[in-house]
Amino acid sequence: MNKHEPGLTASKRDARYDILFEPVKIGPVETKNRFYQVPHCNGMGHAYPSSMAAMRGMKAEGGWGVVCTEQVEIHHSSELTPVIEGRLWDDRDIPVMAKMCDKIHEHGALAGIEPCYDGLATPNRYSREIPMGPSARPVTYLEPVQARAMDKTDIRNVRKWYVDAAKRSQKAGFDIVYVYAGHDLNVLSHFLSRRWNDRGDEYGGSLENRVRLLREVLSDTKDAVGDTCGIALRFGVDELMGSEGLTSEGEGRDVVEMLAEYPDLWDVNVSDWDNDSVTSRFAQSGFQDSYVSFVKKVTSKPVLGVGRYTSPDAMVSLIKSGALDLIGAARPSIADPFLPKKVEEGRIEDIRECIGCNICVSADFHMVPLRCTQNPTMGEEWRKGWHPEKIPAAHASESVLIVGGGPSGLEAARALGQRGYDVTLAEASNSLGGRVAREGALPGLGEWRRVVDYRQYQISQMPNVKTYLESPLKAADLLEFGADHVVIATGAKWSADGVGRENHAPIEMAEGARVLTPDDIMDGAKAEGPVVIFDDDHYYMGGVIAELLRDRGLDVTIVTPAADVSHWTHNTLEQWRIQSELMKMGVKIIAQHNVVSCDQGSVEIECSYTEETRVLPCGTFIPVTMRRPVDTLFHEAETLFSGRTDAPTLERIGDCFGPGTIAAAVYSGHRFARELGEAKTDAVPFRRELPALATD
Ligand code: ADP
Ligand code: SF4
Repeated sequence: MNKHEPGLTASKRDARYDILFEPVKIGPVETKNRFYQVPHCNGMGHAYPSSMAAMRGMKAEGGWGVVCTEQVEIHHSSELTPVIEGRLWDDRDIPVMAKMCDKIHEHGALAGIEPCYDGLATPNRYSREIPMGPSARPVTYLEPVQARAMDKTDIRNVRKWYVDAAKRSQKAGFDIVYVYAGHDLNVLSHFLSRRWNDRGDEYGGSLENRVRLLREVLSDTKDAVGDTCGIALRFGVDELMGSEGLTSEGEGRDVVEMLAEYPDLWDVNVSDWDNDSVTSRFAQSGFQDSYVSFVKKVTSKPVLGVGRYTSPDAMVSLIKSGALDLIGAARPSIADPFLPKKVEEGRIEDIRECIGCNICVSADFHMVPLRCTQNPTMGEEWRKGWHPEKIPAAHASESVLIVGGGPSGLEAARALGQRGYDVTLAEASNSLGGRVAREGALPGLGEWRRVVDYRQYQISQMPNVKTYLESPLKAADLLEFGADHVVIATGAKWSADGVGRENHAPIEMAEGARVLTPDDIMDGAKAEGPVVIFDDDHYYMGGVIAELLRDRGLDVTIVTPAADVSHWTHNTLEQWRIQSELMKMGVKIIAQHNVVSCDQGSVEIECSYTEETRVLPCGTFIPVTMRRPVDTLFHEAETLFSGRTDAPTLERIGDCFGPGTIAAAVYSGHRFARELGEAKTDAVPFRRELPALATD
C-alpha cells in the first residue's frame, strides 16, 4: 500500500457531516447513509456485464449507501439495441444482475434496479416487434417506425411484464425496485402525458385516468416484491415545457399528491434527460431544487433529489432544510466513486468534483463503456483492473521529468507521485492547467477548472512531486536534467490554415486578411467585426468563441459544414441549448457551407450541396478546424537521445501525441503513469468480454 490510498490518511469526519451518515428506511430495507447513486446509463449493461458489475461494485466500495442499475429492459418488445442498457427479458438474464448485486452487497450497500418498458421510445431494431404506446404515434427516434396504440390486453401484458421483472429483480438480489416514470422515456410517463396519450378510455383523458397505469404498476410491484424490496418511484415533476407538459405547480404536483404514500421512496427530478443532466455550461449545481422542493411537503415517505452535488456542505443544508432525505448522484459518483468515503474520512479536499461536461453521457450515446473527464479509471475497473484510489507502487526507485502542466501532464504527475516516483513537472507558463486553465476562462466553462484544481492540490501534498513554473525546457535540458524517464506533455495549438475535415489543403488566404485562432483569442488578441467563425471541429470551441465575441458586441457569423452548430454536442445533451442561445444572442448561423477563401474584409463560402458560392463581409476570420501537436521538443529530444546509452526513456502523452478531448488527455496521462515500468506487448491491453456461443 502507498501513502495516498484511502484509509491511511484518514482522519475523523467533521461532526457537521454526521447527518449524511444517518440510516434511512426505504420500506422494508434501510440504507446505511444518505449517499444514493441514482440509476444511470453506462454503455456496459448487458453487453459488458463484468465491466458493469465491477463499476457498480466500485461505487459501493466508495461508500455509496445505495447503488442502482441503469434502465433495464423488461421485455423484448421494448428494446433499445444498439444502445446498451440492462436486460431482464427472461430468467436467463438474472445471473448478470445477480453478479452486480453481489458486488454491491460485498461492501454493505443496497442494490437498486430500474425496470423499464420504453414503448414508443423504442424502435425495436433488434426484435423487430411493433412498439406500443398509449396512442398510435411515430417512435421518438427519427426512424420510419410507428408505435401502435395499446389495447386492454396489451395493458394487462405490460403490467404482467413489470411484475415478472420485479420478481426476477428480487431473485437476483435487489433491495430496491423502481417504478420509473421519468425522462419522457417510458410507457408510464407516456400514459401520464397529454402529448402522447389521447385515449378515450379509462386510461386517457383526465389526469386521474392518465395516472391509472402508473398507479397499477406501483401496486402490482408492491404486491409482488414489496415484502422484501423497497419500492421507489422515479418521477420527473416538471418537464420544463410549461403548459405542454407536467409542471411542479400543475399536473406534476398533482401526480405526487395522488400517489404520495404509494411508493417507499420518491426519486424526483426534472424531465427530460437534457434537463435532468444539464451541463455546467448551462446550469449550476442545485438547479433542480426549486422544482422538487414541494415533494417533501406532500409525502411522509423519504425523498431523493439530484443536482450534481459535490459539496458535503450543500448536501447537509439540503437535508437540514427539509428539502431532501437522500442525496442522489449520477455524475458526482462517476467523477468520484469514493466521494462518501472521503467525507467519512474527513478528506473533503480529496473529492474529485464532477465538472459537468457530459463526456460520460457521450459514451452512452456511442454505446461504449462509460468514461469521465475527471476520473480516468471510470469504465476500466474490470477490463484494466484500475481502481480510482489505489495504484501499484513504483516498479523501481526512479525519477520522471514531465514537460507541460496541462491535464495530461498534471494527471501523469499526480498518478506517478501516488505510485511513489520522484517526479518533476516543468511548465513553461506561469500557471498550471494548460488548455483547461485557458478554456476555463471562456463563457460557461468555469467549472472545468476543477480538472486543474483537484490535481494541483493533490500534487501539492506529495513531497516526491516538484513543480516548476516559467520553465520552458529545450531538448538539451531534458538530457542534462538526468531523470530516468522523460514524458512530453506539451499539448497542441489550433491551426490557422483551415485544414480539417472539409478542407484537405489550406484555405486560400489573401495577404493582409485578419485570421485569428481560438488560441489567439484566448491569449487576448482583439477580433474586429464582422467576425466569421468556420466551425469544422463541431465540439464546443466554435460556439463558445462565438458567444464570447458576440458578448463583446461584435457581429458574429458561424459557418459550418454540419447541419447545426457544435454538432458533436448532441452527444453531451447541449446542442439545442447552444444553438438556441447563440441564435437568441444574434449570432448568425450558416449551416452546410464550407469556407473556400479568405480575403481582406471578406470570406467566400460554398454550399455543400449546390456548390453555389457567396461572399460574406469579414473583419476577422477564425478557423476552428483542427489542432496540431506541439511536438517539436519531442522530436528534437528523440534525435538527441538517439543512440545514447545515458539517455532517459522518452514518451509523449495527451494532446502532444493525439489532440482530443480533455478527458482523453487526462486518460493518457493516467495510462502513462500506470504503465511505466511495465513490459510493452502487442497484446490487447485490456480484458475482453467475449460472446458465448449458444448451445441450443
Ligand atoms: P494536454 O491537454 O495534453 O495536457 P495542454 O495544451 O493543455 O496539453 O498543456 C500543455 C502545456 O505544456 C501548456 O501549459 C504549455 O505551456 C506547456 N509547454 C509547452 N511547451 C513546453 C516546454 N517546452 N517546456 C515546458 N512546458 C511546455
Ligand atoms: Fe462529470 Fe464530466 Fe465526469 Fe460526466 S464526464 S461525471 S459530467 S466530470
